[in-house]
Amino acid sequence: MVIMSILSFSDLKLNQLIQKSLDDLDYKVPTPIQSKTIPHALNGQDILGIAQTGTGKTASFCLPIINHLIASNKNLSAYSPKALVLTPTRELAIQIEKNYSNYSKFTKLKCTSIFGGVNQKKQVNILKSGVHTLVATPGRLLDLMSQNLLRLGHIDFFVLDEADRMLDMGFMPAVKDIIKRLPQKRQNMFFSATMPPEIQKLTSKMLNNPIKVEITPQATTVKKIAQTVMYVEKSKKISLLIHLLKNNNFKKTLVFVEMKYAANRIAKKLESNGIANAVIHGNKSQSARQKAIQMFADNKVKVLLATDIASRGIDINGITHVINYQLSNIAESYVHRIGRTARAGAEGKAISLVTADEKSFLAHIEKVTGQNIFVETDQPFHSEAALSAPIIKASKAKAKIDSERKQNARANKKKQYSRRDPKKSGPKKKSSNRKKSSKKKTKKW
Ligand code: AMP
Repeated sequence: MVIMSILSFSDLKLNQLIQKSLDDLDYKVPTPIQSKTIPHALNGQDILGIAQTGTGKTASFCLPIINHLIASNKNLSAYSPKALVLTPTRELAIQIEKNYSNYSKFTKLKCTSIFGGVNQKKQVNILKSGVHTLVATPGRLLDLMSQNLLRLGHIDFFVLDEADRMLDMGFMPAVKDIIKRLPQKRQNMFFSATMPPEIQKLTSKMLNNPIKVEITPQATTVKKIAQTVMYVEKSKKISLLIHLLKNNNFKKTLVFVEMKYAANRIAKKLESNGIANAVIHGNKSQSARQKAIQMFADNKVKVLLATDIASRGIDINGITHVINYQLSNIAESYVHRIGRTARAGAEGKAISLVTADEKSFLAHIEKVTGQNIFVETDQPFHSEAALSAPIIKASKAKAKIDSERKQNARANKKKQYSRRDPKKSGPKKKSSNRKKSSKKKTKKW
């Protein structure tokens, strides 16, 4: 089929109820991934989209699903959705459900999301009342299936979102297990920012003669992001971060940190310097994470500190700056991180604070993305020594940095324990602790 060039959403000939919601949202022109995938998906073809978040990929799969469901006009049945979107994180699941609800608000279609970390009761009640589309993380989905509270026998539209993240997070066995339980006859749309060999294998096995659309080549960075590097001594990083956040009018800044303990430490430092912030990392509860994200989204704090895993899937419009307080040794993480700014055509800035040890990570990022990142020397904490330091081998740098970070994490834990009881320098066995604390209580009372 020849697909004409798509200039506006009306060229897609979507159901008018969808068009109405797009007008409401002020979506005027489809993004490249949307114009390249939606016509084929509407035609019933399988799609393989290589695209990262921020490209508009959510609408690329939501709109064809909604169009298909309106046309098929199937009755709802308990625990048995018609379309399934599998996504790696709860934040992404919530986000997709929100977008889907926006696009389908003038229809009678029902959508819900299920994910772990919260009580299942509410989710099960909604499934019981029947939904057309289910957005799910793999663990909770399998869990409910094992309790016979979810059936996949009526799925005729299946989306696998962020397939490479699924792989990173160890969800591939669960994903394969879920795919096995889907009906043979169905339409598939797979999305992934990168195509590691295991994902390639899965797509060639699961997709039926798919239309392949690649929006940004693997690990390339979005052009509208102005990227800079600032060289700094390790001990001066926090001062540089405070300087940047205090002396510039950064409206919405996402700061990436490698370790949870470091995120907490930096948050405290910023707070004591009058920079209100919120933090998300793996040790925070789901509700604490949601609260932090909401505060940032609502502009109650201008700074959000995040680790890579906790930040996956967060979709907050208007992030003006991404600061890499610590660089990751994985180039794709850099691309994902800075992709949080400059979403859907907006402009953004990414600043990486780099020490001599992190230079090899930077070199790797520049090699993979094919870009030389501009070095900003006009800043008060510029380190000429770091700038001119030789680049050590990446594996050596990683080993050195990892061991330092682990040491710091251990020291930090020790500090926490000794703060609780100055005589103790580390965690004690539960039983002896309990004995001591009960002794203390008897003495006191
Ligand atoms: P996504 O990559 O799906 O997470 O989308 C990134 C952001 O772009 C979201 O905030 C969407 O609401 C927005 N968006 C998606 N498609 C369009 C469009 N065609 N026009 C304007 N904004 C869009």
